[in-house]
Amino acid sequence: EKKRTLNFGAGPAKLPQSVLLQAQKELLDYSGIGISVLEMSHRSSDFNKIINKTESLLRELLNIPDNYKVLFLQGGGSGQFSAVPLNLIGLKEDRCADYIVTGTWSAKAAKEAEKYGKVRVVHPKMDSYTKIPEPSSWTLNPSASYVYYCCNETVHGVEYHFTPETNGAVLVSDMSSNFLSRPVDVSKVRRGLLRSLRDGAAYSSLNLCAGVVQFGLIFAGAQKNVGCAGVTVVIVREDLIGHALKECPIVLDYKVQVEMNSLYNTPPCFSIYIMSLVLEWIKNNGGSAAMETLNKQKSSIIYDIINASNGFYVCPVDSACRSRMNVPFRVGKKEGDEALEKKFLEGASKRGMISLKGHRSVLLKYNPSDV
Ligand code: PMP
Repeated sequence: EKKRTLNFGAGPAKLPQSVLLQAQKELLDYSGIGISVLEMSHRSSDFNKIINKTESLLRELLNIPDNYKVLFLQGGGSGQFSAVPLNLIGLKEDRCADYIVTGTWSAKAAKEAEKYGKVRVVHPKMDSYTKIPEPSSWTLNPSASYVYYCCNETVHGVEYHFTPETNGAVLVSDMSSNFLSRPVDVSKVRRGLLRSLRDGAAYSSLNLCAGVVQFGLIFAGAQKNVGCAGVTVVIVREDLIGHALKECPIVLDYKVQVEMNSLYNTPPCFSIYIMSLVLEWIKNNGGSAAMETLNKQKSSIIYDIINASNGFYVCPVDSACRSRMNVPFRVGKKEGDEALEKKFLEGASKRGMISLKGHRSVLLKYNPSDV
């Protein structure tokens, strides 16, 4: 392996070297056809094979059930902040949605959704984005079209190590920064309901009952864990498709994109190809369970140092929800000692480590009026 700079960037982030080498090898001539994926028609059979392979690898790695559709869209995670309400807020007449706001990204998503319906933050105000509000304090609205949360808040380093219980309401998860970093049970069926299913209850009617299916929709930009920027994966349950508001831009309409196999317009072909290589790498390296082990190990190395540093390094995040993807910390004291932090970053840079400078907003107060 060529020695490369140690890139701690949250995303775009480091890619496996074997992926970069394969992309390099295939850049002028993909699979003997004499052209690059960069030049290939998205309607060609070669590209069709690439997009279909990417989908089947994803289905395999996450064990995605058949009643979920997989889309490869443009517009990034931010595009989904709009696409989610545009497609789902009309699921119920009241056009309202519940949001759990644990950091910058869920706050932005909630703000965007306000354009299309009534948005309610379901928990009491928090002073800072350093923890997940106690689930027993959430007041979920039974007539909400969906419940939204961000599974890993990239800037604040707050990660859910559990799946929120929504009493049957459609659950939407932004997994942009922890996608495929661990296994996910896409359609988690509760034990009790499995029993009722065995006892002969009709699945279709149960589907609408409390607690049957956990995830309605999962989305994730590729540039953090599964590739490069340009493509966003959307995994959406079939019965939620086809309810878009009339003002929904056609490229964000899940129904249109499902019908066109994500090819309504020219997709980000190269980004999808890179994703297929990363997914193959994940598969060859033990799949999502192995990724979880690796991520636990990697993040523990840093948290252990922070915990043993006698306050020299400080991580403000509650230990129950510390992210395995992004570890925010200050050097010197809680608010950070700027001179020491500068020294730390210079020392890191001399050792070939980049993108360690955190986001200034990590310790900013949570301002509910931002939502
Ligand atoms: N959600 C999360 C959790 C993110 O970390 C980011 C990007 N940092 C986004 C959404 C927005 O993604 P994009 O830049 O692809 O629009």
